[in-house]
Amino acid sequence: MNTIDTPFFAAVGNDLPVLPAARIAGRALRAEVPESRSAIFNASTGEAIGWQESASAAQIDEAVRVASEAFASWRAFTAAQRGEILRKVAELVEARRDQLTVLQMRVSGKPPVEAWTDVSDVIATFNYYADLCTQGTAFEIESIVLPGDGVAAERFHVPVGVAALIVPWNFPMVTTAWKIAPALAAGCTVVLKPSELTSPVECALVDLLAEAGVPEGVVNVVNGGAEVGALLTRHPLVDKISFTGSTAAGKHVMRAAAEDMKRLTLELGGKSALIVREDADVELAVSLAVGGAFTNAGQMCSATARILVHDSLYRKFMTAFETAVSALVVAAPGTRDVAMGPLISEGQRTRVQALVEAGVQAGAQVAFQGQSAQDTDGGFFMAPVVIAEPSADNILWTDEIFGPVACVKSFRTDDEAIALANDTRYGLVATVVTRNKQMAQHYQCAVRAGLVWVNTPQLIYPHVSWGGFGLSGLGRELGLAGLRSYQELRHTMRNTTP
Ligand code: NAD
Repeated sequence: MNTIDTPFFAAVGNDLPVLPAARIAGRALRAEVPESRSAIFNASTGEAIGWQESASAAQIDEAVRVASEAFASWRAFTAAQRGEILRKVAELVEARRDQLTVLQMRVSGKPPVEAWTDVSDVIATFNYYADLCTQGTAFEIESIVLPGDGVAAERFHVPVGVAALIVPWNFPMVTTAWKIAPALAAGCTVVLKPSELTSPVECALVDLLAEAGVPEGVVNVVNGGAEVGALLTRHPLVDKISFTGSTAAGKHVMRAAAEDMKRLTLELGGKSALIVREDADVELAVSLAVGGAFTNAGQMCSATARILVHDSLYRKFMTAFETAVSALVVAAPGTRDVAMGPLISEGQRTRVQALVEAGVQAGAQVAFQGQSAQDTDGGFFMAPVVIAEPSADNILWTDEIFGPVACVKSFRTDDEAIALANDTRYGLVATVVTRNKQMAQHYQCAVRAGLVWVNTPQLIYPHVSWGGFGLSGLGRELGLAGLRSYQELRHTMRNTTP
């Protein structure tokens, strides 16, 4: 079965495709209440390109029960067998790379290079967990040396069970892969709740899983908004929740998980810093600042939109930053040289603009803005905004904006830079730009963040785990830690005396 050639590719006019409320054990289930639909928009035109139905409580219950029933047979596959299927997923995604890229652009309005990179990330993630499965060492039973005679102990990892996977809209295909690949590698079965704004993208990826040979019932989907996610998190047969989204929603999820002591991974918001030391290469710093603040129109949990620049470089940096930001072409994906796309929705644009207004009213100064989008036919575009020297309590400095807004602040000493970087309850990532290796190491230790990049763009490899401190979440995705998050640790001890 191959449904990746989804009508969402071609949708125009009145004949808009409808994504079913649920896909359970390979069957597409329609909504029980026909009017429970929400529109899917093309973010770069503002046009509705389809509808998504919302799963009912009964459909959510069925999806979880089907996943629960499929668990015993899926966990009985060897790791190597599961790895072969994950490898096949990577191959199918590669074969459909162009279509998935176009679908991602059509829904989110991402520039081609960003949509393409998302698909590359999905392929790398499935290949990485396929490797872990086929190499096998992560699944081996380990012996533990004990001091006493006559007793032996062993340690191994078993799949948690049914995993509820809830994803946001900013990197829908990537976030889905980061959860599904390790969950399946571990031997878990899953119920995915895509973002209500981008579900055609997540659902296209799920279609390929079936085609790759994932057995029926192992991966199920329930579509809908926050209420569907909330019902899923409360289902007693769900053993593990992996949630990516806002910190506010993450707190609800954590409360829901507490009821049954469900295992929990939370990838939440951020307010991350990019630190430009006095010895930095300013050209490099500017390119990292542009990438860190305006990739995906700033709709990144890892946005390094608090830019700290050493006093001695501040003017030079701001001049070069203004030139670079002014040159960004903000437009629809098909536009020549496009560098930044739209925000995901009218609601998101209104939210971001309101935050900018509130920040400015409280005294923040707009240093400069980038270009407004041209010929955008009603898309949800917004020009990049750069704020200079906001006060430490300004909302633009303290709160996650999740849009194309960067703040720049100067500092005089490394201690001051570290204190400013750490003056937040989030702690997802940080970037340091310096030519001094020793100081780079000092920052790596002193900055409170789950991942620190030194003189590099925001590189992501599935080998390196992702996650943050404080309000940025709980646990880690990707890497071996990502696999372990879908496993329970089990020990055995036995008497070895004959
Ligand atoms: P959101 O929290 O509104 O929604 C995320 C997902 O959770 C959606 O599928 C939504 O339907 C669902 N949801 C909402 N409330 C829920 C609830 N009470 N129970 C269960 N599910 C619920 O977030 P968003 O606006 O879609 O995404 C933006 C947020 O995601 C930002 O705060 C961003 O920082 C965060 N994010 C974090 C990471 C990370 O890796 N740390 C990555 C991407 C996005």
